[in-house]
Amino acid sequence: MRIPIQDVTPETGTAEIFGWVHEVRDLGGLAFFLIRDRTGIIQVTVPKKKASEHVLTAIKEVSRESVVRISGTVKAIDKAPGGRELVPEVFQIISRSESPMPLDVVEKVPAELDTRLDSRFLDARRPRVAAVFTIRSAVIHKVNEFLFSHGFVNITTPKVVAAATEGGTELFPIAYFEKEAFLNQSPQLYKQMMMAAGFEKVFEIGPIFRAEEHNTTKHLNEATSIDVEVSFADHYEVMNLLEDLVRDTYLHVADHCQDALANLEIRDFAVPDCPFPRLNYAEAIAIAQKKIEEPIGYGDDLNSAAERAIGEEMGCHYFIVDWPTEIKPYYAMPFEHDPSICKAFDMMHPRMELSSGAQRVHQHDLLVQQISAKGLNPESFEFYLTPFRYGMPPHAGWGLGAERVVMTMLGLGNIREAVLFPRDRHRLVP
Ligand code: ATP
Ligand code: MG
Repeated sequence: MRIPIQDVTPETGTAEIFGWVHEVRDLGGLAFFLIRDRTGIIQVTVPKKKASEHVLTAIKEVSRESVVRISGTVKAIDKAPGGRELVPEVFQIISRSESPMPLDVVEKVPAELDTRLDSRFLDARRPRVAAVFTIRSAVIHKVNEFLFSHGFVNITTPKVVAAATEGGTELFPIAYFEKEAFLNQSPQLYKQMMMAAGFEKVFEIGPIFRAEEHNTTKHLNEATSIDVEVSFADHYEVMNLLEDLVRDTYLHVADHCQDALANLEIRDFAVPDCPFPRLNYAEAIAIAQKKIEEPIGYGDDLNSAAERAIGEEMGCHYFIVDWPTEIKPYYAMPFEHDPSICKAFDMMHPRMELSSGAQRVHQHDLLVQQISAKGLNPESFEFYLTPFRYGMPPHAGWGLGAERVVMTMLGLGNIREAVLFPRDRHRLVP
């Protein structure tokens, strides 16, 4: 019966393992193999004099990265990984790997990211790459658990849509029979409509599509958004929810992903403290003005240099609040006392933005006014505006980029490392 490699110990006596041939070393009288499955690595030692004919044939034919089945006797040995080795009675090649391979799995010098992504199935055999996706899975698991345990309803909204969420050029047009359609850039309008439906707390974890032309290390053309919307809540309430969710997700990874963190050589995994400091937009701009050379002023969006400069000053996760109404989307609620600023926030990691959110405008007429003020035509938002005429509760919410959470949590240099098959300007395959 198959035993996961991590569970093979001298106490098991005998073991049958299935895995990939990680390394081969032939010392004449002795042949050594490292066999790898998703749980670990074990040394297989073949003393040639004592080995059976079929074992000798198999070890002659086998190539690195072939899939094998091996069963035999487990022995304690200090020098081998995990303090044990397997001496085979059966050595079966199940699926032979061709060589040379397009990417060397055990290569000591790391390959270029592009080469790795071209052969992602081989790249992901590396324990340190697999670790990223083990942790990403744990993040998504915890986010689901957190939101379900807080009474949220999971929803799925369409990705093929007729109108842009925020207008603009960041849209991929698609052929949809005889109509013009787009890939959705955000579930924003749909999650708000579910507030009108009385769902009160909804979330969706799904793809968003952005036709951003520039190639950066923190933008994808297809990203995963964790989206939340809450009725009868203001922006402060959903900010509290967001920081708790981020902290609990880190805690979950710290508690459940020790092996993956070790594979990534992350030893000081720091869980962020709550509450996150809150900086207002005007203060943020003032910090950026002091620290960066490019001119930036009140009313400008924060570019990457500004985000990094402010992040360096803050040194931890933080919020930026009190944004100018003019640079936030039409659905962000202006403050009653000063409508030039609005109840929007960004949640930041020192390296970059992770989330944007706001209390939303729930008054139909104000919303129409704000859509027009952005130079958009309210008529193309009829499906979205209608629910605001039949009893829309006040509500607030946010969108959190899953890849950016994983990227910043693990200190990855490029967002593409946090996606199995990234989509960018140049990459549509695999
Ligand atoms: P940025 O200014 O950093 O490009 P944004 O303000 O355009 O981001 P939002 O529309 O506020 O992005 O989306 C909410 C969150 O979704 C962002 O904070 C980010 O984490 C994530 N996100 C948005 N666009 C992308 C993208 N192209 N690639 C990866 N993640 C993204
Ligand atoms: Mg944003």
